[in-house]
Amino acid sequence: MDISIFFIVPNGKNKYIWRCTEYNKYKCSSCFTSTKDETGTILKESCHSHAPNGVNIQVRELMEKIKDNAKSNQVCTRNLISEAVATVPLVVAAQLPSQSLISRTIRRVRSCKDQVCPQNPLTVNDLNIGTS
Ligand SMILES: [Zn+2]
Repeated sequence: MDISIFFIVPNGKNKYIWRCTEYNKYKCSSCFTSTKDETGTILKESCHSHAPNGVNIQVRELMEKIKDNAKSNQVCTRNLISEAVATVPLVVAAQLPSQSLISRTIRRVRSCKDQVCPQNPLTVNDLNIGTS
């Protein structure tokens, strides 16, 4: 399997079906199936109809890095973006989403981090129903 990005197609009971993200752009029919268990064993895979796009992968990696940084520190949004963009080649920076979209992503990541949600109950005993 070469370096490509796949997304999960939501069907299949005991397996994940992964489809190439260039499915629409290049009509790439490459996909692979993996087990749903923790081993994630690849059951079947097929070839791409296009060359790998290294820039897209670097853009996604940078966006993940920006999200991680947004969660771990409180540097202002503009500085966070400019620090991250300074670490990648110009060709990657040119493919990034607009600054307003990245800013929105950072705000969303930070607001999710600040929310404290109760954990989902796993058993009946975990349910905290007031008895009086
Ligand atoms: Zn493909």
